[in-house]
Amino acid sequence: MIHKILKTTFLILVLIINISSKGEYSKQNDKYQKVRQRMVREQIVARGITNQKVIQAMINVPRHLFVPEAYERMAYEDRPLPIGEGQTISQPYIVALMTDLLELESNMKVLEIGTGSGYQAAVLAEIVKEVYTIEIVGVLGQIATDLLFDLGYKNIYTKIGDGYKGWPEKSPFDAIIVTCAPTDIPKPLEKQLKEGGKMIIPLGGSIVQELILFEKKDGQLIKKSVAPVRFVPMVRQDGKRY
Ligand code: SAH
Repeated sequence: MIHKILKTTFLILVLIINISSKGEYSKQNDKYQKVRQRMVREQIVARGITNQKVIQAMINVPRHLFVPEAYERMAYEDRPLPIGEGQTISQPYIVALMTDLLELESNMKVLEIGTGSGYQAAVLAEIVKEVYTIEIVGVLGQIATDLLFDLGYKNIYTKIGDGYKGWPEKSPFDAIIVTCAPTDIPKPLEKQLKEGGKMIIPLGGSIVQELILFEKKDGQLIKKSVAPVRFVPMVRQDGKRY
């Protein structure tokens, strides 16, 4: 009798362990879904972002998969996080704000400079038709490319190289987002922006910069300052700052 009870208990335990470990790897059972929704409510909507496309994109993208495992539990905190190679993934609000300011439509083609973890590219890809993204650090670009593929994004095109030069073969772009900071606006990017298009870019020193929104009107860039920000510098292949 006791033997039978023990055996049944053991079987039930095995079953419970099996179910819970399967749950951890299933997309439907994303254990961070609630945390992510709260992040969007408290950090994005509460700070005045009303664009439903941006809100939905931030709800959809599993940010915890874009940070190193050691930081997974901090992925939804109100802060940037290290992603290796001395680089960082931006604070969720900054990602939402930059995306919002571009006023994206579903038929657009966007260029991103500084793929990093691939998180911003995924957020963009939830909204627009095509995302082109360039990363100068080979390992980061490769990890991001693999993750975006695994997550099933078919509208993101990645490239390892110097983003200062843009992606002339795929230009012009409806919008450009730069997530590393040069001192001045890169001329090739200005050229590759469509008439009427918007570019969001942090410009300034190596510690603090000004986030600036440019709009191309009659071939000229009209400038609007947004906020002081802190991004990693845009660098050349030799590591020197642009
Ligand atoms: N958008 C990223 C965060 C980017 S951090 C995300 O969502 O995770 C900035 C990135 O810009 C770093 O990965 C850095 O290596 C890259 N970078 C710096 N200079 C660059 C250049 N000239 N061209 C392309 N990428 C560059």
